[in-house]
Amino acid sequence: MSLKVGVIGTGMIGQDHIRRLTEVLSGVDVVAVTDIVQDRARAAAPRGAAVFDTPQALISSDAVEAVVICSWGPAHEEQLLACIAAGKPVFCEKPLVTSEAAARRVMEAEVIVGRRLVQVGFMRRFDADYRRLKRVIDGGSLGAPLMFHSVHRNASVPVGLYTSDMPLNDTLVHDADISRWLLSDEIIGVEVRVPRRSTRGGDLRDPVIVLLHTASGVLVDVEISVNIAYGYDIRGEVSCEQGVAALPNRPATVISDRHGIRQAIPEDWRERFIEAYDQEFREWIVAASEGTATGPSTWDGYAATLTADAALRAVSSGGLERIAMIDKPALYDVPLALAAE
Ligand code: NAP
Repeated sequence: MSLKVGVIGTGMIGQDHIRRLTEVLSGVDVVAVTDIVQDRARAAAPRGAAVFDTPQALISSDAVEAVVICSWGPAHEEQLLACIAAGKPVFCEKPLVTSEAAARRVMEAEVIVGRRLVQVGFMRRFDADYRRLKRVIDGGSLGAPLMFHSVHRNASVPVGLYTSDMPLNDTLVHDADISRWLLSDEIIGVEVRVPRRSTRGGDLRDPVIVLLHTASGVLVDVEISVNIAYGYDIRGEVSCEQGVAALPNRPATVISDRHGIRQAIPEDWRERFIEAYDQEFREWIVAASEGTATGPSTWDGYAATLTADAALRAVSSGGLERIAMIDKPALYDVPLALAAE
């Protein structure tokens, strides 16, 4: 029996996830879609899928067993709460929500239900290179991690779609989550430095350097450049007591011609993380078919939201902004070292 899924939001990533759910993965059927723009939903709907007028109608439909949320961040809270109220497993693209208060409301609703229903779209945890890197760190052969250098570069982002805060309130959540997961540590403070602004990004505060402080004292420096023109380039290197472990460069055909010897760089996140997104959904389908969720949780989305909020405060204050988390509900009490493994 295939899991019957409804997709909310049929923009860029919604269309890509519909492609993987219908053409790549098994054990799943996209039976319903909705988008604020009806024509876009109709164009993206697989053959036979219902097109609903509203997310609420899709979520409450008896034909839909589990939901994939690919709308923009500010819409996530209402849609997540409706899924939880309906008792339906839900995959939600990052960011979980866009404020601490919203994250707590979603967490409270899920805790009342008493079983995990939400998986957040932090796909890096499903990337084979990040998983190998984590195994080396957890194995302990290099000693304790001391520093993590994370680089997050996008070729471009659509001009005018985002506010100037986008690198900190939208992009940083990936680096915050992968840092917590790789290091099995919580982020307790954030500093931000803003260099000379790139002229390519309009009003965007881009690039930025973020310094994350973890509970055990590891420092994570994150370069975020969202308009760097040459490609989508994700790097990571962990400095430990007795050695360094780094993500490898992605294998790519080596081209030699009159311009020199070169290798292609992924154009965007779809290309760089294509296998990670597939694996993220493979694992989600298994859990959702059993009426629950594994992988990155509402707690992880909450932690990333707090980091983004602290980063925005740090831009204003120019100093170290502390993060205060609530006590972790037992529902999410999986050691970070084991989460999504
Ligand atoms: P997008 O192309 O703008 O698509 C979002 C779609 O959702 C649009 O069609 C939008 O309509 C629609 N929408 C907005 N509010 C809605 C609502 N209340 N109900 C139903 N549909 C609604 O954006 P995207 O790039 O696909 O991003 C979507 C989400 O995925 C964002 O949260 C983004 O941060 C996340 N994302 C994650 C990754 C990753 O690496 N994991 C990569 C890219 C994006 P309008 O255009 O009319 O607003």
